[in-house]
Amino acid sequence: MGAMAELVQAGGAAIEVRGLAKSYGGVHAVRGIDLTVERGRIFALLGPNGAGKTTTVEILEGYRSRDGGTVKVLGYDPARQRQRLKSQIGIVLQSSGMDRYLTVSETVAMYAGFYPRPRPVDEVIELVGLEAKRDTRVLKLSGGQQRRLDVAIALAGNPDLLFLDEPTTGFDPSARHEAWEVIRNLAALGKTVLLTTHYMDEAQYLADRVAVISNGLIVAEGSPATIGNRERARARIRYRLTDGVAPPADLTAPPGPDGLTELVPDDLTTALHRLTGWALEQHVDLTGLEVIRPSLEDVYLELTDDPPGPSSTGPASTALTGTALASTEPARRKGRRRS
Ligand code: ATP
Repeated sequence: MGAMAELVQAGGAAIEVRGLAKSYGGVHAVRGIDLTVERGRIFALLGPNGAGKTTTVEILEGYRSRDGGTVKVLGYDPARQRQRLKSQIGIVLQSSGMDRYLTVSETVAMYAGFYPRPRPVDEVIELVGLEAKRDTRVLKLSGGQQRRLDVAIALAGNPDLLFLDEPTTGFDPSARHEAWEVIRNLAALGKTVLLTTHYMDEAQYLADRVAVISNGLIVAEGSPATIGNRERARARIRYRLTDGVAPPADLTAPPGPDGLTELVPDDLTTALHRLTGWALEQHVDLTGLEVIRPSLEDVYLELTDDPPGPSSTGPASTALTGTALASTEPARRKGRRRS
């Protein structure tokens, strides 16, 4: 790398996007997106089908042209400097169409060969936890192991920046958690990761920052804990009362269909203190007592009007325990291949 390029690359955010726009004929897929991804961070783009995630990511990768806006990825404009950018980014597609008769280590070595400064093959295999499978042919790997190999391929060139497109779609819960560990390892190595996902819990667990994209616009951005003013939103208290007892009038309400009384107090701490104080004094059991704040999923649904998938209709308090918002999404979407 020349001194100039190094200079350009040294400072600034990993990804800097201003006013990005892209239409397909009459379809305005991306309508003016601003995005900053700091180096060494994990950034999640969250959004329903057709929101514009793939279009945005493919423009950043240099695989799609844009109609408007400025884009800098590791200091390069992907539209004009794609070749230079290519050696410094890793891309994990939803399936990478590799030669199924090669072994794991042969596959990683082949991809490493395309890059000027590859990471040693064994190191890459270790990073994704495939040591025991290094001499196994690709066709003998389980789905989860193939996915790890997808990540290994993206890591082969020792990139500074990784793009992960729905990295755990179609995984069983344990494979998902293993994949999350792999992704966290990448962040620990100082890599920048931009991932797209439909899973709230994935964004919550992995991302330093989340942007919710809807209809080609970013409708909210922040940390998973604070996005959409989650932490400032008013909490609800829920409890079930034993028959025949009545708490102070301002701390009760007619129970809902589930038999639970729900309050939205102005001052949570005071209300909770008075309610539990009363219950202790009166020896009353407040069965199922809970305090609920809007989950990331609540915020997401409010912002995107995205109808939840079949498994995402649970109460807010359980919303972050493994919910897919678009579980009908086919695992292989665009037929995109590594080039
Ligand atoms: P998904 O999660 O379903 O992949 P997405 O958020 O990645 O969705 P995009 O694939 O970026 O969304 O699509 C955004 C919009 O642009 C959609 O309305 C889509 O139909 C349209 N679109 C995407 N690619 C093309 C294309 N090559 N030609 C025409 N329209 C397209």
